[in-house]
Amino acid sequence: MRRSGRIRGIVQGVGFRPYAARLAAELALSGRVRNEGRGVRIEVEGEAPAVRAFEARIAAAPPPARVEEATWEDASEEGEAGFRIEESEAGGPARWSIPPDLAPCADCLAEVDEAAARRHAYPFTSCARCGPRYTLALGLPWDRKRSTMAAFPMCPECAREYADPRDRRQHAQPIACPRCGPGLRLETGQGVALAAGAEALEGAAAAVRRGEVLALKGVGGFQLVVDARDDGAVGRLRRRKGREEKPFAVLVADLPAARALAFLDREEEAALRSPAAPIVLARSRGVGLAAGVAPGNARLGVMLPASPLHHLLARRLGFPVVCTSGNLHGDPIATGDAEVRARLPGVADAVLTHDRPIARRCDDAVVHVVDGSPRTLRLGRGLGPVLLPAPWAGAPVVAVGGHMQVAPVAAADGEVLLWPHVGDLDGLAARQALGVAVEALRGVVGRRATVARDAHPDYGSTRLAESQGLSHVSVYHHHAHVAACLAEHGEEEALGVAWDGVGLGPDGTAWGGEFLEVSPRGADRVAWLRPFPLAGGDAAARDGRRCLAGVAAVAGLAGADPRLLALARSPLAASTTSAGRLFDAVAALLGVRERSTFSGQAAMALEHAATGAGEAYPFGFDGRVLDWAPAVRAAAGEGDPGVASARFHATLAAMVAAVAAARRARVVALTGGCFQNARLVGDTSAALWRRGIRVLLPERVPPGDGGLALGQAWVASRRLGSGSETSPGDGGGSPSPSE
Ligand SMILES: [Zn+2]
Ligand SMILES: [Zn+2]
Repeated sequence: MRRSGRIRGIVQGVGFRPYAARLAAELALSGRVRNEGRGVRIEVEGEAPAVRAFEARIAAAPPPARVEEATWEDASEEGEAGFRIEESEAGGPARWSIPPDLAPCADCLAEVDEAAARRHAYPFTSCARCGPRYTLALGLPWDRKRSTMAAFPMCPECAREYADPRDRRQHAQPIACPRCGPGLRLETGQGVALAAGAEALEGAAAAVRRGEVLALKGVGGFQLVVDARDDGAVGRLRRRKGREEKPFAVLVADLPAARALAFLDREEEAALRSPAAPIVLARSRGVGLAAGVAPGNARLGVMLPASPLHHLLARRLGFPVVCTSGNLHGDPIATGDAEVRARLPGVADAVLTHDRPIARRCDDAVVHVVDGSPRTLRLGRGLGPVLLPAPWAGAPVVAVGGHMQVAPVAAADGEVLLWPHVGDLDGLAARQALGVAVEALRGVVGRRATVARDAHPDYGSTRLAESQGLSHVSVYHHHAHVAACLAEHGEEEALGVAWDGVGLGPDGTAWGGEFLEVSPRGADRVAWLRPFPLAGGDAAARDGRRCLAGVAAVAGLAGADPRLLALARSPLAASTTSAGRLFDAVAALLGVRERSTFSGQAAMALEHAATGAGEAYPFGFDGRVLDWAPAVRAAAGEGDPGVASARFHATLAAMVAAVAAARRARVVALTGGCFQNARLVGDTSAALWRRGIRVLLPERVPPGDGGLALGQAWVASRRLGSGSETSPGDGGGSPSPSE
């Protein structure tokens, strides 16, 4: 029999075609395989049982490949001999194929460590199953001649490996060796050359040992590295980078070293060792690191080497190092040598760089394992770009996200391409970076694509969409949050709980504690947290006392700062339903944390302060408005902040369960930045499961604003397709032409 299959997922640039060829040889099948537009096409012929076995093993292809979808149909037999890998169709529609960057595989690491190997200690070792891709790609489709490796012609030995079907480097685009590939260079912070090759690596290690700040040219941009055991070095890095308290991630050489710093379960270890090599948030052991690495934080971000260069440096050092993005607060990560000197003046004492240019910037990804499932908190290196099936996607759409943690997407013809994290849009450099990303995505889906954006007129992404004169559709913030969760799970409708800091609602107020029934027809706001005023507007995001003053004014609590209370009571005070600001208020009320130097800091402190299981406090619910005032009054009289925090979390979970019961919901989506809180997720999921309700959580897409673009694309595709859409209006789902 002969079968023809179309395979989609992570199947290009990851050694998938050689895998198919080996499999066919093993099963004595003939046929061919080639890359095409958005995946791989396979024709296979032979005895029926062998063909069936082939299909099953294609579906279960090992990492880094990941088959999302395989559709097979019968074809007429051709009787050819053997199985061959065909060249990609030249000039074909292979524009969607851009594989992510992958950490070195075990074989490549063994080669780097093997004294007699040709690539011993070579920092740019890679093969068909590992190495950088997205960050090297100058154009699409992915190919060496359209990458920054084009400047390094292969030596005869590398060329032989590239052509050999038995070699794991067959068709591996970024391969190189010490003879033909890029090399290292060590410079001073001012750009004066110090050393090259192995001496450069040794000099960089010595600088870190001396307590200096090293700028390291990583996979998707420069990183800043210091000795994580050295309080002085960590303090210097914080001062120079302008980063007060936000935790730093730590790089270690291997898994045993990671285990020495954090308690790791099986899933966390699997996430650390996955080909993306993300930063994994895990419970800190509280030993072995300077206090300034993650001050007052129960969690630690740990990562393993994402490239042979990181591997060689971490091995040589033998102790944990801080490894953080090479940028100043809020700016995108720097990618070029001149950029490091211009944008990070005086930050680095030494610069370990090389001559392989970074074509596209990409931050490290962040993953948090909750209830045994890895959840992406930042779509960075290795996790993006990624192509997912999206049956809802029709007319081409590029969605630009919100203002913070922006990560755009493109959707068309049944697929959606998630692009890596760009960052916060306060600075010009970040807005320019988003412009570059949007251009790339329009190149993928077509320049006439509609742009989907947030309804907030002042967001950097909104302004970009408008300034370029692109046709655009606006989608309300919380509607997009819920839609993203539906899109990821392939669901059509759910009761969505969208809890976050703040987003613009259709009534013009600051929403953030919403319950929306979302379906392809639109969104209905069915319940919300009782609104409260904020003392002094935007400043409340960093000052929990300002949130507490508003909460105190509503709940009749004593003890709030009288000046702030007066501000909260002013008729000019903006009111909000924000769950995030309610967390900030309770953190301040319980004396857990008043000021936040980064987004979510107070809520995180409250989560970590909680002790024991905790029983819900009383609250009010009239079928629409959830009144937290009785709970806050009870928390104020609790005495033990750990118990009060646990009971506050349990109260919020009970509120979600009450709304779900009142709406007879069968499926509930929990999303928005507040659902990065593992305790809130755990309590709420348990309360819903007990009632037989299915829970959807963001997993491959961040729950915070990094996931907004997927939801915007889902809503915009639906609207462009049907022409009828309702907004999450106050109660009735009235049509809103402005949305
Ligand atoms: Zn490899
Ligand atoms: Zn070579």
